[in-house]
Amino acid sequence: MEDPMATYEFTCRRCGGFDLSLPMSQAAARARCPRCGNEARRRYTAPALRTISAGLSRAADLADGSAERPRVVRAIPPAVTAPGPMGPAHPLQARLPRS
Ligand SMILES: [Zn+2]
Repeated sequence: MEDPMATYEFTCRRCGGFDLSLPMSQAAARARCPRCGNEARRRYTAPALRTISAGLSRAADLADGSAERPRVVRAIPPAVTAPGPMGPAHPLQARLPRS
């Protein structure tokens, strides 16, 4: 039977974190740091996060990002000043096929 590969995260005291792809049967608590060769410890928390869907993960990243670097609105967004309900919202809309 095929041995599935999985990505594991390790933390080197000197260099910080790195990922290693290993067959699941060879996943160990420790690995050699690819940069300095020191022993690195496996981080057990992160892999569980990868079981959530990509969309949920992206949303969580966005939420985290907005906490640290919120996007500040300095002007009224263009959509607000665009033509009213009868005007084209986007130039490409005029090229849509009409029935
Ligand atoms: Zn290292």
